[in-house]
Amino acid sequence: MDIIVLRPDAKDADLRHIIKRLKALGLEANVSKGAKRTIIGVIGDTSKVTEEAEDAVRAAPGVEQVMRILKPYRLASREFKKANTVIRVRGRAVGGKKICVIAGPCAVENRDMLLDIAVKIKNAGAGFIRGGAYKPRTSPYSFQGLGEEGLKYLAEAREKTGLPVVTEIMDPRDLKVIEKYADVIQIGARNMQNFRLLLEVGLSKKPVLLKRGLSATIKEWLMSAEYIMSNGNHNVMLCERGIRTFETATRNTLDLSAVAVLKQQTHLPVLVDPSHGVGRWDLVAPMAKAAVAAGADGILIEVHTNPAEALSDGEQSLRPDAFKKLMAELKPIAKAIGREI
Ligand code: PEP
Ligand code: MN
Repeated sequence: MDIIVLRPDAKDADLRHIIKRLKALGLEANVSKGAKRTIIGVIGDTSKVTEEAEDAVRAAPGVEQVMRILKPYRLASREFKKANTVIRVRGRAVGGKKICVIAGPCAVENRDMLLDIAVKIKNAGAGFIRGGAYKPRTSPYSFQGLGEEGLKYLAEAREKTGLPVVTEIMDPRDLKVIEKYADVIQIGARNMQNFRLLLEVGLSKKPVLLKRGLSATIKEWLMSAEYIMSNGNHNVMLCERGIRTFETATRNTLDLSAVAVLKQQTHLPVLVDPSHGVGRWDLVAPMAKAAVAAGADGILIEVHTNPAEALSDGEQSLRPDAFKKLMAELKPIAKAIGREI
């Protein structure tokens, strides 16, 4: 609540009432009376005014409009911090000149497969390994992940390749065990507005990769980042992964304009996951290239050695050789926009 516009027929008593309300909130009013309308500029820290208090002013007699100039998210905003946030993970940086590449299977399925994929993506130039041990499946009868056993394989893959581990949390009760093995904690699309989970990872020392919700606006997404940051964890990376639209040719609609919007509005690193964005392996490479060209700080690509038999998301997974080819093709694109990959 930064500007309050009164109706042309507002009474002096209405104005006095609003000034009193503002005072009660610890704020001052700068009243400017025009020929037809009175406008009140609110002075003081308006970022802490609750929506309820704002709604009460909006409903007060004589009020026509209440406007916000400051963003509802504060810690995540570019205004709060001008310089890009660079998140350091085991000697790697996310949000700097080098574009980070996170690759690996949708789910950790077994030890041998994971170690094999880890070596292949490492040799192709990936910077992080991903894989779900706790999977958010639409059906309760689908493979749910290996749990801690899967986390152990991820840690073994890190030992073998040096690649830091990104893995998803679904339940605050798993935080301790995930923290034991993971380097970056992923919050999946389905949990973007699981506020208790967000607050819980906000207490963690591990960076968080926050995926965009299936139907979340950019503002809602940034408010979710704010939840994590408000609890002390400022190492949040955002990951666009496609949103639901009327289009059915792709699994989701990859919103690359979100990258450009976020780069203006937040200092946090912005990643793109074309795999879940399109849901088809043959469309992953062009969208990964577009993401890099659009200014993404990183990409997340699902890679599987045997997509036809994958326990989840095989249809959108690249084989290691296709991933390697994509990595080579991304290099000149990154260079053209002054980045490295
Ligand atoms: C995933 O990364 O495997 C995943 C489940 O992603 P999302 O939450 O974006 O659907
Ligand atoms: Mn997946």
